[in-house]
Amino acid sequence: TPDVRPLVAGNWKMNGTRSSLDQIKAIAEGVQGPLSEKVDALICPPATLLYVSTALCTDSPLMIGAQDCHQNASGAHTGDISAEMIADCYGTFVIVGHSERRSDHAETDHLVRAKAEAAFAADVTAIICIGETADERKAGQTLEILKRQLAASVPDGANSENTVIAYEPVWAIGTGLTPTVEDVEKAHAFMRAELVARFGAAGKAIRILYGGSVKPSNAKELMGVANVDGALVGGASLKAADFLAIYKAY
Ligand code: PEP
Repeated sequence: TPDVRPLVAGNWKMNGTRSSLDQIKAIAEGVQGPLSEKVDALICPPATLLYVSTALCTDSPLMIGAQDCHQNASGAHTGDISAEMIADCYGTFVIVGHSERRSDHAETDHLVRAKAEAAFAADVTAIICIGETADERKAGQTLEILKRQLAASVPDGANSENTVIAYEPVWAIGTGLTPTVEDVEKAHAFMRAELVARFGAAGKAIRILYGGSVKPSNAKELMGVANVDGALVGGASLKAADFLAIYKAY
């Protein structure tokens, strides 16, 4: 999208121990340079590595985020982390509503919206994930699903500072399958129109990432599609060389 600064984001999921910090260091070094003037880079390691990761990035444009937050600011919620805790670790983004959380933890659009609102309140940018399943796609419901998820998961007051949308077709996550360029173009144009209809000018500037089996070999093609403002990368973000190759496809 013209005038929108692209974002290449990595989601490590439940992978990574202290020994993986070498990869964070290599990515932090690799994203230094002229490209960082134009393209943002973000890694979302597991929460256990959040604070130590941000400490490794003090001299790098690499940003660090978390993979989920609770919808409340604090309290009796054993095992959860709040958006405020993420901010306290210098995390600046949080993924909410990833399809794995929607399926593993039965997260609803309503809950995802509440989590995004909690992120807004803590000044953490929410990366709100949406996307159709294989069955929904087969039934021709893709755009209808995206419309419903955008309406229900994205809070009022969303703008380019507090919100990133990640379109991740569920059937493309971790499968090596990707939609055609035409399908990505159609989905992203549809989401852009929905955002503009609801948020006006602010909707034009909200980044819409594509996610699902992005790798060095297909990054250029996918990120070159109209209204694709970057990528959310799972598996290929675990290795610095692969993540950097995707980043450098810009
Ligand atoms: C993801 O889980 O956000 C993702 C896109 O995974 P992968 O790149 O491994 O398909």
